[in-house]
Amino acid sequence: MLLINENAGKNIRIVSVSDEIDKLYKVLDVRSLTSDTYVLRIERKNMKFIAGQHVRVRIPDHPQFRLYSIYSGEHDPYIDLLIKEVPTGVYSQLLRKRTRGDLLEVKGPSGSFTLNPQLLKTERYLFIATGTGISPFHSYILSYPDFNYHLLHGVRYSFEAYESNTYPADKITICTSGDDKGHFHGRVTQYLEEKVHSTDYLVYLCGNSAMINDAIDILKGKGFKNDQLFIESYF
Ligand SMILES: Cc1cc2nc3c(=O)[nH]c(=O)nc-3n(C[C@H](O)[C@H](O)[C@H](O)COP(=O)(O)OP(=O)(O)OC[C@H]3O[C@@H](n4cnc5c(N)ncnc54)[C@H](O)[C@@H]3O)c2cc1C
Repeated sequence: MLLINENAGKNIRIVSVSDEIDKLYKVLDVRSLTSDTYVLRIERKNMKFIAGQHVRVRIPDHPQFRLYSIYSGEHDPYIDLLIKEVPTGVYSQLLRKRTRGDLLEVKGPSGSFTLNPQLLKTERYLFIATGTGISPFHSYILSYPDFNYHLLHGVRYSFEAYESNTYPADKITICTSGDDKGHFHGRVTQYLEEKVHSTDYLVYLCGNSAMINDAIDILKGKGFKNDQLFIESYF
């Protein structure tokens, strides 16, 4: 391992060159799902993660970074990130322009939006996502193939129900607010108001904070307790 003393004689910071190189991950593919949403696939190297965690991504030399949940499963030989291009956004647009072989600085994983493996056999799970908030749930489902869950995906239009055909049909409900081509016409919060009558679930919510706050109010109104509710807010 090569060590460099970056600041000899002052505040000494030892940098391991091999550690820095270890944080650089090659882009393997950028796969479009819709006109504004794509899956960025990067090499996995030896990264260990638990489904539900996120990574911190930086384009080398860019002053900023962004966080992205891992979309792929714990056993996949690559890391997938599901990213929506935000019209006014910087990173989500820059990342789409990456091509195979480009390098990204990836740190992590971090986060505790994960499932307790000891409860998987006994608990019922309700997963509630808006937009790309489906990413950690996709990772759970790939990683733990046999457990009792139902996934609610809230999108504006049915074509934004990313890769919905890859989930068992009886395990997903697509809520569309802008057309009536999903399973339920309306927001996920409306679905919760009208259709959820049992509190016998652990509920995981991921996506925008407005949906999460509204959903939590509804769920608490129906009798759910704090220790049944788990959240990951993107913005
Ligand atoms: C823990 C965590 C995990 C995340 N995981 C994902 C992920 O898996 N996929 C993903 O696409 N984003 C994810 N995000 C959001 C992501 O980090 C960036 O904020 C997003 O890509 C926008 O970055 P930007 O530079 O393009 O736009 P910015 O300039 O950073 O943001 C512009 C505005 O875009 C809006 N915005 C941010 N994210 C989204 C979004 N996903 N959909 C719609 N509007 C948004 C916000 O209102 C924000 O103010 C995550 C955020 C957190 C905190």
